[in-house]
Amino acid sequence: MKIRIQPLKKGELKPLFTNPNELGFCKLFTDRMFVMPYTEVDGWHNPEIKKLGPIPMEPSTIVLHYAQEIFEGLKAFRTKKGEINLFRPEMNAKRFNRSAARMCMPTIPESDFLASIEMMVRLEERWVPSTSGASLYIRPFMIAADTTLGVRAASSYLYLVILSPVGPYYAEGFNPISLYVSDEYTRASRGGTGEAKTGGNYAASLLAGRTAREKGCAQVLWLDGQEHRYVEEVGAMNIFFVFGDRLVTPALNGSILPGITRDSVLALAKDMGLKTEERAVSIDEVCGGITTGSVTEIFGAGTAASISPVGSLRYREQDYVVGNRKVGPLSKKMYDTLRGIQYGELEDRFHWTTKVPLEKPAEA
Ligand SMILES: *Cc1c(COP(=O)(O)O)cnc(C)c1O
Repeated sequence: MKIRIQPLKKGELKPLFTNPNELGFCKLFTDRMFVMPYTEVDGWHNPEIKKLGPIPMEPSTIVLHYAQEIFEGLKAFRTKKGEINLFRPEMNAKRFNRSAARMCMPTIPESDFLASIEMMVRLEERWVPSTSGASLYIRPFMIAADTTLGVRAASSYLYLVILSPVGPYYAEGFNPISLYVSDEYTRASRGGTGEAKTGGNYAASLLAGRTAREKGCAQVLWLDGQEHRYVEEVGAMNIFFVFGDRLVTPALNGSILPGITRDSVLALAKDMGLKTEERAVSIDEVCGGITTGSVTEIFGAGTAASISPVGSLRYREQDYVVGNRKVGPLSKKMYDTLRGIQYGELEDRFHWTTKVPLEKPAEA
């Protein structure tokens, strides 16, 4: 893939952030975007990096009506030596294509997906914060571009990549969150689109998210769509339970998003000598385990927060407090290990990181 890079003039560049600790999550975007159209006749063509700006659309553009859209999320990390690491980007490329297949969208060669990310990060290198904990969030996404209101898969698409510098997730400290267990709403169901990273899953989750916040909880813990009995995930994070010397997480069943952080946590846990189980976990087993003390830790795992310790669950108007609302030892160890690998401070024995070349590519 030969990417055309439109040069930006000095005066077109935004001023850089001054304090990475105040960046928050995806409020500011960098100077450029990657854009590549797809048509049935030409396939993917004219890959281009240009100034970030509006993408003009007809009001009838199909993504606006029927939500044929997919996305990915990953981060670039600045090491102490000044290098830039991506964390398992080939997993994002594979998942993007699995999401594409589920949503009747064209796949993108993995090498092109990876090249689009690498070239964007190389060009926007100055936006990768140097503060540990801060990073550059990378958002590749694809939208259906046909202009018709007929319900069917589109024949034209747009693939884009945008970047946002993000502050440390735990600016106020590594503190456990409360989760609201929803047995009213469901995020996804078997046979639905739960395992695809598609916008509609998020739209379906908003109302329960609002309820959770009204109840003083940070996020929703979703149960299965059939019986509201088995734990699924947190909506942007997968979920883990420590039962004694076992680390348990719901098995991927079609309605759970297969997280890359989830996969990494399972690999690290095995490496640490823990027993791991991927299986159905009922909410009764979890709440019972918290009450008897056999569940000692709960944590979420996803790209945005990395590891998010859970201090309590609110289920049917009752609070189940885990580990005295303190960060458990395994949550802390997982967080430190992932972060150590991502920021190049621990040996990367699993070969999870990819270095982004720092030489500036030619703009033309
Ligand atoms: C992205 C996402 C996750 C976490 O996946 P990671 O690859 O670990 O970031 C979990 N659940 C849902 C619904 C997601 O969209």
